[in-house]
Amino acid sequence: NIVYLNGSWVAAEDAKVSVFDRGFLFADGIYEVVTVYSGRPFLLDEHLQRLQRSLKALHLQHALDLDYRQLIAQLIERNQVDNGLVYIQVTRGAEAQRSHLPQTEMTTPTIFATVSPLTPHWDTPEPVRVCLLEDIRWLRCDIKSISLLGNIMLKQEAANRGGAEAILHRNGSITEGTSANYFAVRDGKLWTAPADHLILPGITRIWTIELARQCGIEVIEQAFTVNDLDTLDELFLTSSSREIQPVAQIDDKIIAAGRVGPITQRLIEAFHDSKRRHLEQ
Ligand code: PLP
Repeated sequence: NIVYLNGSWVAAEDAKVSVFDRGFLFADGIYEVVTVYSGRPFLLDEHLQRLQRSLKALHLQHALDLDYRQLIAQLIERNQVDNGLVYIQVTRGAEAQRSHLPQTEMTTPTIFATVSPLTPHWDTPEPVRVCLLEDIRWLRCDIKSISLLGNIMLKQEAANRGGAEAILHRNGSITEGTSANYFAVRDGKLWTAPADHLILPGITRIWTIELARQCGIEVIEQAFTVNDLDTLDELFLTSSSREIQPVAQIDDKIIAAGRVGPITQRLIEAFHDSKRRHLEQ
């Protein structure tokens, strides 16, 4: 496995960063994940835009100019990736001493990229169980920060309760999962939380909204509420690695008779069609 680190291509086991890196000390950094199908990155422009947005939010000016498109192309080529997940991480870099306040605007960011294998879905995934938990994370979930402690604690709690994911609520509104967005189906319409500071603006979320509109399904970008959960017809999660993941159960409440509902199924098929078109381009 050949990884990229600060301008060099090295074997994964030889890639080393300083213990004074602010990513290590403070989780002062951001990341991005892009799926690769048949050697070609999927929805790349959208991912690169989000990466730029994250870098700007942290004022990581020096990392803005790198040609990430070329970096990803090289990563795929050097590792001969067919289907995979590209991971890019940028931290503020190493400084002489540990200090909350970044010491200088001139600190060189640490830029790391790697790729791991992925088996793409071409059939309908098995529906999973999720757990309803209170969203304990910070108020800038729109930044794809490497500081994921809240997400990890919640994912662990969901796993302890036998859930594959958590569905998070804040002040009565459902925000998202710990590493996925959600769509609720009611009366043939889709509901998903608005892309504000309380959720990560998922690329798969945006793509699903686009596919739904193409299918003539109305999408309401308004959070589904905990009180409305009883009126739910279907529920699914979206993320780059999971694509569209049907949900069969929230805690002990069964949804869509534990099966994949018709709207979810239609969107899964539309998603697969869009991947086929991507491969043919
Ligand atoms: N929400 C959170 C908190 C995430 O970590 C992720 C992805 O890992 C998503 C949503 C889904 O985003 P995307 O569709 O861009 O993978």
